[in-house]
Amino acid sequence: MSQCILTSCILKIALDTPLNALFDYRWNAAADAGADAAAPLPQVGQLALVPFGRREVMGLIVGVSDSTDVPAAKLKDVLAVRSQLAPLSEQWLALAAFAADYYQRPLGEVALPGLPKNLRVLTTVALDRAIKKLGKLADAHDGTPLNMPALNPAQQEAADAIGGAQGFKPTLLYGVTGSGKTEVYLQACAQVLAREDDAQILILVPEINLTPQLEGNIRARFPGVMLATLHSSLSEGERMLHWLAAHQGQARIVLGTRLAILASLPKLKLIVIDEEHDPSYKQQEGLRYSARDLAVWRAWQLQIPIVLGSATPSLESWHHAQTGRYRKLELRERAVRNAVLPRVKILDMERDKPKDGLTSHLVAALKLRMERGEQSLLFLNRRGYSPVICCESCGWISNCTRCTSFMVLHKPEHRLRCHHCSLELRIPRHCPTCGNVDLQPLGRGTQRVEEGLQQLFPEARILRIDADSTRKKGSAQEAFDTVHRGEVDILIGTQMVAKGHDFKKLTLVGILNPDTALFSQDYRASERLFAQLMQVAGRAGRAAQTEGGSVSEVLIQTRYARHPLYDAVVNHDYDHFATTLLEERAQAALPPYLFQALLRAEAPELATAIEFLQAAKECMEHPQVTINDPIPMSMTRVYNVDRAQLLLESASRPALQAFLKEWLAELRAMKTRVKWSLEVDPLDI
Ligand code: ADP
Ligand code: ZN
Ligand code: ZN
Repeated sequence: MSQCILTSCILKIALDTPLNALFDYRWNAAADAGADAAAPLPQVGQLALVPFGRREVMGLIVGVSDSTDVPAAKLKDVLAVRSQLAPLSEQWLALAAFAADYYQRPLGEVALPGLPKNLRVLTTVALDRAIKKLGKLADAHDGTPLNMPALNPAQQEAADAIGGAQGFKPTLLYGVTGSGKTEVYLQACAQVLAREDDAQILILVPEINLTPQLEGNIRARFPGVMLATLHSSLSEGERMLHWLAAHQGQARIVLGTRLAILASLPKLKLIVIDEEHDPSYKQQEGLRYSARDLAVWRAWQLQIPIVLGSATPSLESWHHAQTGRYRKLELRERAVRNAVLPRVKILDMERDKPKDGLTSHLVAALKLRMERGEQSLLFLNRRGYSPVICCESCGWISNCTRCTSFMVLHKPEHRLRCHHCSLELRIPRHCPTCGNVDLQPLGRGTQRVEEGLQQLFPEARILRIDADSTRKKGSAQEAFDTVHRGEVDILIGTQMVAKGHDFKKLTLVGILNPDTALFSQDYRASERLFAQLMQVAGRAGRAAQTEGGSVSEVLIQTRYARHPLYDAVVNHDYDHFATTLLEERAQAALPPYLFQALLRAEAPELATAIEFLQAAKECMEHPQVTINDPIPMSMTRVYNVDRAQLLLESASRPALQAFLKEWLAELRAMKTRVKWSLEVDPLDI
């Protein structure tokens, strides 16, 4: 039999387009810019540059075949295959395929945006150079940890259980704030790295601001290990190198934010999800995936251990721990000797009327910290000076002309800003309706609190950390460093400061205005508020109490001093609170006892969006799926577009998934100018 060398074939390629299809292209060695005549056939998992419309785009090869239904005259040639790059593994392709299937998106829209842009635009030479550069770095490769502190027995037990686990073992590491979860992760990592020379570990954190702290810890402990970071503030060049280091198995530890869940990690042996309850793990636009949920799937697929850590686990994970699907490990105490959880007190604003937003009790507590040279943190989850300005003589208020929202006063920037559509206006000198020059700020944001504090404590070093104060690249890190160096007396911040940070000199946390969330229509609001309060409270008293130093304290200013949620915070009682919430969810048939999907529609007129959703509701049914009536979204208009939603619910996830697949095919076939999108497992409804 004579040997036949194939020089051409048909490639099935996934492209980053909303079209739910794969595209056929012809490959032949002669036409491939990067190949010679004897080049092997392209493989599944490789990337290929192809003509698409008028553009050249990068696609992912998902099939190699010798035939196609596309007529020869219409079939286009592949321009080049990135053959110097190892193909993405079968497991990675399966992960992308699962995500595409579960979140009901085309494969290309899931697989390609996760890859570094430079893979698409770099010339072959530049790519070769990057690969070579990494090859040199890799020679360092040594997993021996340094300076590991002795763990307490609970930490040791947890580290051994996680580090020694084999197979798919999801673990919920439920440890109070400051209990030393990070050390547990690091020692579990050390065990895995010591056991397998080429093992890779993926560690996810919810916020980009938390990466430097952990990166520093990892580098200090594992100086010989290549660490790659993946998050949105890397330059394209860095991102490419880090991605490649992970893809080629050189990076042994990959630390990233939610987007890192789609990194290519051929030797992945352990996944760590820190602060697993954090809503930031959910992508809120485009492919609305949950990085935490995908991580659990990925661990299952690879049959490797995964640890989900939190002081306030999500109810989903808590539920899994209660039903035995996850193993629960507990750290009940703070790790640092003589560091204890702070004392939480409720300050009744009906009795102690606040001045400039601060009750006299809180002012006295701040003063005491100032005198003792200790740090305080004031938490207010609202940036800007005041959420609205108004005219007291005619009732005019600063509405956004494009959204169902207010224009927020930003005093230092001399602007009114809409936080939803980014409209910016100069602060009007007089009321646009009646000419009154005395316009008043209503309510209080971080800038206004800062102003009040400066008057109250002129000598204090006050620092505000929020999205406005940290717009410049690197400025957030600079601000956090200033706090760590002890150059700040009073820190004011939004949720940016509430999470994960290990501020060692902080002995007081004041929480200014948490009440609004108590009465939200969103059934998740109390779960979130509780987690947020516990997390921000957890920033206090992380170091050992010093002689003559203050007992660490958390003071919550509220008008609803008797609310049971605050009771639970006072008692640091997550268990009871979570159990009660879960009972309520079970009774009301809400997640995690029920599965949801949300269809959103946008149109210039609300009626058009509702009409589309009504048609969507009526076009199909399923005995196990409830389709609710279309309703306007709670913030109906954003940037001149009206938005409405349709909620689908089912007690069976498979039934809901099966229904969605068929239903979406129908919706895609509908002729409509309404922009619509589907979200599976929505967080905000
Ligand atoms: P968590 O993530 O649980 O809130 P961290 O991991 O930030 O807590 O740890 C809190 C503090 O405790 C850190 O300053 C850390 O260095 C310290 N720590 C952790 N484990 C130990 C230990 N075994 N001995 C002494 N200090 C520890
Ligand atoms: Zn007026
Ligand atoms: Zn607006």
